[in-house]
Amino acid sequence: MDASFLKNFEALSKSGALDDLATLRRENRELEMLVNDASVLLSKEHVEELVEYASERLRERFAPVRTAILYRPPRGGPPVMRFWRLMDEAAERFDDETFETLLEPFSQSPRVLVGDELSSSVVIMPQEAEAFGARLAAPLLGPDGPYGIVLLASKLSGGEYPATEAIYVDRLVRFLSGGIQNRLHYESMITDGKTGLFTHDYFMRRLEGESARLLRRPGRAGLIMIDIDHFKRFNDTWGHQAGDVALIRVAEAVRGAVRSEDIVARFGGEEFCVLAVDLGQRQEETLMALAERIREAVKAAPIPWNDRVLSVTISVGCSWLDPARGRGPERGMELADRALYSSKETGRDRCTMAGYGLLSRASLTRD
Ligand code: GH3
Ligand code: MG
Ligand code: MG
Repeated sequence: MDASFLKNFEALSKSGALDDLATLRRENRELEMLVNDASVLLSKEHVEELVEYASERLRERFAPVRTAILYRPPRGGPPVMRFWRLMDEAAERFDDETFETLLEPFSQSPRVLVGDELSSSVVIMPQEAEAFGARLAAPLLGPDGPYGIVLLASKLSGGEYPATEAIYVDRLVRFLSGGIQNRLHYESMITDGKTGLFTHDYFMRRLEGESARLLRRPGRAGLIMIDIDHFKRFNDTWGHQAGDVALIRVAEAVRGAVRSEDIVARFGGEEFCVLAVDLGQRQEETLMALAERIREAVKAAPIPWNDRVLSVTISVGCSWLDPARGRGPERGMELADRALYSSKETGRDRCTMAGYGLLSRASLTRD
């Protein structure tokens, strides 16, 4: 080999330039991996999918004996807690108090903690968290401070998490956190705070979309308008809070009576609307059967209030979308509304179907 080449090589080696190059290469690889992970994370539609992907990447890379991702849901309620033992998800939970305790250190210093740092920054470490044996803890940070935490126990290989790995986890968790925030904001924008059903705006957008789709690929979609009967009287008798419980129970009953791809919205107050997609051939019968199923489910839904169990009934109006024959979103809604009005007029607690003429089949009641 050329003598001058060897001399240059030695000089470069002595100066540390070759080590620097190797470090840069390694960092570059880490960043490439991170950019790839981030782009996959940001393409996920649901929070659970984001959490699953992040957990998968962490478990594949480090093989921690235990992994946990815990976070507070946006609209209150118990924290969501996902646990894995090596590659398998485990049905475990920490006490809610433990979750709050683990978040505390991150309110002051929102950075990843490695080795003994987590246990030494928590004043009294709860027993179950001690037993988990976290060797790395990264916070999920939102605009109001930490709202969740990612915990990795020691690796199967027994090693600790060196600085380069902690940096990777920190960055990945930042992307996870941003992604979760994004999804949660979107979800809270399109859903009603009281019932968790979709908002009127979102419903109308989906209705327009469905109508456009039906023009391209003919078919039928059903519209079901629902209004709680004598709800003012219910509120006056049992109080507004009981009324709120009733709204939540009615929403659950409606949701439970339709298919998961159907869109259920709260139209303000005590009115709800369902967009039933893909009705198939016998759309009229199918739609009426669905409306009846909803009416019966609501009627049977217990509304616990103090020592009593209350109930409500609903009036329902149905129509369908057929944009190719002049039944676009506006006309479809107008007809469903008229059918609902007819259900109210003829005695409530019933379903009415709007036909092509006027009301083709008035009120079927089965009680
Ligand atoms: P109808 O059978 O004709 O529909 O009678 P109704 O009493 O249900 O109709 P009305 O429109 O007169 O009253 C609706 C009531 O719904 C009045 C209002 O107090 C109540 N309401 C609307 N939104 C809410 C809510 O968020 N919580 C509670 N508790 N009540 C609500
Ligand atoms: Mg009303
Ligand atoms: Mg009403």
